[in-house]
Amino acid sequence: MKTDEDCIFCKIVAEEIPCFKLYEDEDTLSFMDINPANEGHALVISKEHWRNVHVIPDELISAVSVTAKKIASALETRFSPDGINLVQCNGEGAAQSVQHFHMHVLPRKSGDELKLNWGLAAGDMDRIQEQAAKIASTLQSTG
Ligand code: 5GP
Ligand code: ZN
Repeated sequence: MKTDEDCIFCKIVAEEIPCFKLYEDEDTLSFMDINPANEGHALVISKEHWRNVHVIPDELISAVSVTAKKIASALETRFSPDGINLVQCNGEGAAQSVQHFHMHVLPRKSGDELKLNWGLAAGDMDRIQEQAAKIASTLQSTG
């Protein structure tokens, strides 16, 4: 499997560093973002290290999209947000900060005025863990 020893997401895939895991299958992994732009902010990545949309193989971007749909559905069921953005950034100008392909599944509140380049602010880990448990249990009960 294609991997990069300096990549933080490859380290999460290899379980060298922890994450609040929501879901995994053969090709993808989903976990909570630790600098959430909003409550319930989740990420979906390909397990293989591919830098961006320009290089990731079609079957893997498809697999990431299917997992993002599952996570969005669980977030919708559990938290009934006013909306959900799927956001995927490529390159410095698009504010890509981790160079391993990933999709943000981002619950929205009406009027939250979230900017697309929202900046990084550390979240409350207890709160993130609590939300992760709710989403993971919803994923288990809805399949
Ligand atoms: P980007 O800015 O590249 O679109 O998104 C990268 C995301 O990865 C950011 O929202 C950031 O908070 C998140 N992130 C960076 N390092 C870690 C980490 O070690 N664990 C988790 N769970 N998320 C991370
Ligand atoms: Zn990587």
